[in-house]
Amino acid sequence: MKEEYIAGIDIGGTWIRVALCTKDLKEDNIIKKTSKTLKETKFSISKSVCEILSELLTENQIKKEQLIGIGVASAGPLNIHTGVVFNNANLGFRVIPLKEPIEQNFPGIPLYFINDGSGAVLGVYNFEAEEEERDNLVYITISTGIGGGAICNGHLLLGKEGNAVEIGHGSVEPRSKVKCKCGAYGCWEAYSSGTGVQSRTLDALEKRDSNADKLLEIVGGDISKVTAKEIFQAAREGDNLSRKIVDDCIFYSKVGIGLINTYYDCSAIYIGGAMMRDKEQIIPHIVKQFEDDPLMFTINHPPKIKTTKYEDEIGLMGALTYAKYRIEENKTLI
Ligand SMILES: [Zn+2]
Repeated sequence: MKEEYIAGIDIGGTWIRVALCTKDLKEDNIIKKTSKTLKETKFSISKSVCEILSELLTENQIKKEQLIGIGVASAGPLNIHTGVVFNNANLGFRVIPLKEPIEQNFPGIPLYFINDGSGAVLGVYNFEAEEEERDNLVYITISTGIGGGAICNGHLLLGKEGNAVEIGHGSVEPRSKVKCKCGAYGCWEAYSSGTGVQSRTLDALEKRDSNADKLLEIVGGDISKVTAKEIFQAAREGDNLSRKIVDDCIFYSKVGIGLINTYYDCSAIYIGGAMMRDKEQIIPHIVKQFEDDPLMFTINHPPKIKTTKYEDEIGLMGALTYAKYRIEENKTLI
């Protein structure tokens, strides 16, 4: 009998990540491949996923028949029963079918769909959470968008279609004039995600709201080069506009995290996603707030605030974990 493998796929607004691992999920046995998220048609993502997974199998001399399950974690909202993404803000199309096109390329192999935030919390649970944190655990990604997942009383929260913790589109400023890519106003994602930080800065630059000389110097006067990375750098170097944008990013993250703890009463919140490249400018402020004065943002006792050591790859670790747990009918999922 040939060795059995599971596959994990993580579909994000910027990257598609694919992994293979032996079914014991030993970290040393994980092999990975990454590619840019293509947004040409609503089938571009499923096509990329199939191509990368096929390449990874061929390169490692693993046959399709050795695959016993594929966990697919995607930026949501995602109907985990039909495998269709809907109302999405960052994948180029509102509705993206995943299940049918992947099934056609990998017939007979069980596909398990999960919102990427919910997948990632399983990844934290399986690979890095401490024993006393595991039963009441939340993961938040602050990346192209903002999403999350929660384990309460030892069980993964899913909701009717699997989007129980789409916290990035929770309103943190209901009368806001800041429009989110989902179409609503005042979403946490519109303030604190990478794209939110970027688009608020571009709007302010257009209105010439406040001095942004340092930021403009960093990008050589070319505002098409302004991304969250340059804005955080400019804020560090004392740029007025960038400082205000980053301060708002931090403030609204406190609001979002406070709401999560009020709803889920968690022991620990792990944070990950591309914005954590500038975590030194974000996380200490949040940790201090919830240590010194949590009541400003949450009625419940505050959680431990941590960052995931798997950085951008926790979603992928989660997709693998989800596939393994589904195959084993793990009690965390029931
Ligand atoms: Zn939104």
